[in-house]
Amino acid sequence: MPNNKKVVTRFAPSPTGFMHVGGVRTALYAWAWARKNNGTFILRIEDTDKAREVEGSIPHIIESLKWLGINWDEGVDIGGEHAPYLQSERLDSYQKYAKILIEKGYAYTDPYTEEEVSAFRAQAELEKRAFLYREHRLETTEIWDGKKPLRFKVPEIKSYKWNDAVRGELTAGEEALDDFILIKSDGYPTYNFAHIIDDLEMGVTHVMRADEFIASTPKFLSLYEALDIVPPVFVTLPPILSPEGNKKLGKRDGAKDILEYKKEGYLPEAMFNFLAFLGWNPGGEQEIMSPMEIVEHFSLEHIHSSGAMLNEEKLLWMNKEHMKKKSYEEQLVGIKPYMTEYSDEILERLVPTIIDRINFYGELHTIKDIEFGFFIKRPQIERERVLFKDDGVDVASNNLENVKNILKDIDFSSADIIKQAIMPYAEKEGKGNVLWPLRMTLSGQEKSVDPFTICFVLGKEESIIRIDEMLKKLDS
Ligand code: GLU
Repeated sequence: MPNNKKVVTRFAPSPTGFMHVGGVRTALYAWAWARKNNGTFILRIEDTDKAREVEGSIPHIIESLKWLGINWDEGVDIGGEHAPYLQSERLDSYQKYAKILIEKGYAYTDPYTEEEVSAFRAQAELEKRAFLYREHRLETTEIWDGKKPLRFKVPEIKSYKWNDAVRGELTAGEEALDDFILIKSDGYPTYNFAHIIDDLEMGVTHVMRADEFIASTPKFLSLYEALDIVPPVFVTLPPILSPEGNKKLGKRDGAKDILEYKKEGYLPEAMFNFLAFLGWNPGGEQEIMSPMEIVEHFSLEHIHSSGAMLNEEKLLWMNKEHMKKKSYEEQLVGIKPYMTEYSDEILERLVPTIIDRINFYGELHTIKDIEFGFFIKRPQIERERVLFKDDGVDVASNNLENVKNILKDIDFSSADIIKQAIMPYAEKEGKGNVLWPLRMTLSGQEKSVDPFTICFVLGKEESIIRIDEMLKKLDS
């Protein structure tokens, strides 16, 4: 590829179901490389296998990419210079190149029925050798009328050596070449053919894709040669491995729908960061990066060639770090939908405490009642529970009374101010003897946020009401 050519990358998913981490990571790397080089990023949909198509996949792909902030310059929904971007609407292009191949003598009508091909395959298996269609190639076949498959006629059977930007030099022997189908009997092209024509017409310079395509690369190379096309740069991404690291990630090992993470309240920039580091690392210590920082540092040399383990613990950590970096206002907006039963007043004061206790917003669904429920619902506590160790009722009562008197006269504008007012008294009387009854009275919990924060969040009036109620209980 000449150096001065504008970088063009593409993400070319097949609409066969939901997007999982692997697919999105491919998109992310292709996007980052285009952005890094002020190039073009294209979203193309490869919908030529009608039997595998799943309805709703295209909007799902679009929503997933948009959620992560991956935008495209040309693509299915927005059009562009090389429209259309849906392969099923590009059949004329494939026909055009099919004809060129036929004219050059590099394509022919498949003369066999499916049964005949199966019989060849069975025979090869019996003889314990690889089945190669090209060994059954006939001298001449009938003129292609589009009703039968059109096959590629490999011009030269040879071994290949090529360069991959990640894997380095790769080689394959002659057995990797075969007369594959270009256009099926239903009129649709195969992936092997269509992507090469599209990449050519769209000016794609770098092809980022999974390692399952390495085995077919010699076939692609022989087709590039037949059409006199200079191949793009191949950038093979490392496989994503299951959390145990011993096999490729499958749906059962957590290859879940990327939009599930959105629903669970993960931050898109954390997911972006996580996916970027799944098989790439800029070197250095910094692991928390914004999408723009990732683009800035992105390079093909730092894409790993060995598998990347999917570690959800790391995602949790990254999400928390990104959550902590958000402004207070952004955190409030993020939390609010999960805490609709909390008044604005309480929630506004509770933000730092919540951020401290969760890794992702959706966690609030499971922990909010246990951890924060007492802020909106007065706890019902038996008086024995506020007694610290073997303190008697009079000690607890006296300490609560004195704390109440301190609280009455101070400013409640921060937990720190409250702490500074109460601590000297607590230190004098024994921290446990003072702070235990206070925490228990306000929250009903043995383990909770510190009592000063509880006071601050509850506000002066509510804190004093709760203490008064307990004092009454202790008195009776
Ligand atoms: N349509 C192919 C897939 O979804 C894309 C492979 C490629 O990027 O060339 O696996």
